[in-house]
Amino acid sequence: MFGSPRRMYVSESPIGGGTGFLTDEQERARTGSNLEGLGRAMLGALLRGLLDRGVEPVLGNAAAELITEGGAVTGVRFANGDAVRTRRGVILATGGFERDPELTTAFLRGPMSHPAGVPSNTGDGLRMAMRVGAKLGVMREAWWVPVVAEPGDPARQYALNGVQLVQRERSLPRTIMVNIRGQRFTNEAANYNALGGAFHAFDPTRFRHVNQPCWIVFDQHFVDLYGGYGVAAGGEMPDWILRADSVRELGARLDLPPEELDATLARWNTLVDQGHDDDFRRGDSAFDGWCGDRTHYPDRRSTLGRIDRAPFYAAPVYSSTLGTKGGPQTTVDCEVLDVDGSVIPGLWAVGNAMAAPTGMVYGGAGGTLGPALVFGFRGGRSAAAAPARE
Ligand SMILES: Cc1cc2nc3c(=O)[nH]c(=O)nc-3n(C[C@H](O)[C@H](O)[C@H](O)COP(=O)(O)OP(=O)(O)OC[C@H]3O[C@@H](n4cnc5c(N)ncnc54)[C@H](O)[C@@H]3O)c2cc1C
Repeated sequence: MFGSPRRMYVSESPIGGGTGFLTDEQERARTGSNLEGLGRAMLGALLRGLLDRGVEPVLGNAAAELITEGGAVTGVRFANGDAVRTRRGVILATGGFERDPELTTAFLRGPMSHPAGVPSNTGDGLRMAMRVGAKLGVMREAWWVPVVAEPGDPARQYALNGVQLVQRERSLPRTIMVNIRGQRFTNEAANYNALGGAFHAFDPTRFRHVNQPCWIVFDQHFVDLYGGYGVAAGGEMPDWILRADSVRELGARLDLPPEELDATLARWNTLVDQGHDDDFRRGDSAFDGWCGDRTHYPDRRSTLGRIDRAPFYAAPVYSSTLGTKGGPQTTVDCEVLDVDGSVIPGLWAVGNAMAAPTGMVYGGAGGTLGPALVFGFRGGRSAAAAPARE
């Protein structure tokens, strides 16, 4: 299975209020009994459901083309030339198109440089659906998420696919994000999907996206209290995170106006002292502090904290996506519609391969997997109930 095991419950992960670290003893015990958590645990249960019903997935053979007869989808051809005829049709479950730069440039509404989905999500299902005349929807949207990326060869990096989501690191106190002008530009602790909008802001005068690239900035007290970026509290930050003895030096090394960065941090510290972020209202929403310092939750101090203890640190933050949202439009049972709005017989699409039922919105924790499971179930049920061909 793709990825590396995370042998923890959601409640033990930072997003569930835990530390994200297991004791050596826990790690050993869970490894010994092959206990997995998070996404791989969910996939394990789904796989078990298949195996219990005698269905054995075939791996390593990419679907390439739909076979049609008389306007109905009747099978699929694979990249190696093999083909299967199906009795009821085909369900597209090939994920999004976040790994195809041509498709992301053509369709997404703003910059997206470091996709977090699996490398094989190259929009094959989208192309297959387009070739049989599907009506597309939600093509501009994605499950936006900010990430940091360790420079260098992605295969050698510690985080998934070379990128690491920054959720806790930007919600905790004592950290902010700044743009190329050295200024804050958003509520850093906002939900990651909505935050995508801040990365897409465009300056018509300079003719560029003003908040990409941007940097997350934090101080030594942050490191001592919380760690982050794969390092436990009090640990040594990795080499690829820039560090400087003063804010001005940090600004100079990032090629930002040093006096502007200085003023930004001074303003931030004033806002923290007064207990309210007048500029971007960070901490006003209960969401903001949830991934912050839970010892202060629900007080704003769970996400507001001064940045004043040298050395100071910075890492580039990129606009990324957990997966794209666009694809063929469907009925509520995931049957794919053609450009005129009629059902294409024998074709269903589910998960990130379908036009997302949530549009541009993210509904909260499980906001992507929840709908994927619900509509996967509906699509499967609809396909199973379709009349079988000889
Ligand atoms: C790091 C990360 C963390 C996430 N955390 C959460 C979370 O906490 N909660 C949440 O709700 N969501 C989360 N998500 C999002 C969630 O994982 C995805 O939205 C979800 O997996 C989409 O499901 P899917 O089955 O549609 O596509 P995917 O899970 O992307 O699977 C698509 C599959 O299709 C395969 N494929 C592609 N092309 C072909 C082809 N031509 N032939 C055959 N197979 C093909 C791919 O290899 C892939 O295995 C996270 C995503 C990432 C990347």
